[in-house]
Amino acid sequence: MKTILIATHNLHKKEEIQQILGTEYSIKSLSDFDLHEEIIEDGDSFHANAQIKAQYCYEKTGLQSIGDDSGLVVEELGGRPGIFSARYAGNHDFEKNIAKVLEEMKGIENRKAYFVTVLCLFDETGPHFFEGKVHGNLLVENKGQKGFGYDPIFVPEGYSNSFAEMLPEEKNKISHRKKAFDQLMKKENTETNLS
Ligand code: IMP
Repeated sequence: MKTILIATHNLHKKEEIQQILGTEYSIKSLSDFDLHEEIIEDGDSFHANAQIKAQYCYEKTGLQSIGDDSGLVVEELGGRPGIFSARYAGNHDFEKNIAKVLEEMKGIENRKAYFVTVLCLFDETGPHFFEGKVHGNLLVENKGQKGFGYDPIFVPEGYSNSFAEMLPEEKNKISHRKKAFDQLMKKENTETNLS
């Protein structure tokens, strides 16, 4: 079984990633290694932030490590909230963050937005990046109770339900995170086949 360290303390995220990668992987989190130092994510892009997290984990443990950085990118807001998604109005205050986006989008017809995840896999060969996106449209008010973050205001293309109205299994099949991990698994499989 392959052990991969994920740069998070978030159990929800660890479990979601374990579910995506399956049982041949043992997913560990920072909490499993008692690493409680704050990692300063001061990069100016999703890629830079993902690398900061992955490299920190690799340097601390020597284990193959993954850092991920995700966010909501809104066309009419020039890409905001983008890398500031988690703290757009209040630190991890989902309600306030949504309220700020809805306020800024008031009266704007073009509701196009996408979620993106950038993964950085860091090992002895350095950083490797993988990306996943899901395109969709923003609602004018919250719909649904499930999920987290901006899920209640995001409807993926081809669907009528918001992410917050979908079951986790349903969202995990089409999400930006899932697509980014699919890219990473492709690389993993290619390398396994080669060796
Ligand atoms: P993180 O990099 O995965 O921690 O994501 C940063 C922020 O982007 C989160 O705090 C959320 O506000 C937003 N975000 C990322 N992924 C999602 C998602 O799947 N649904 C809703 N919001 C998300």
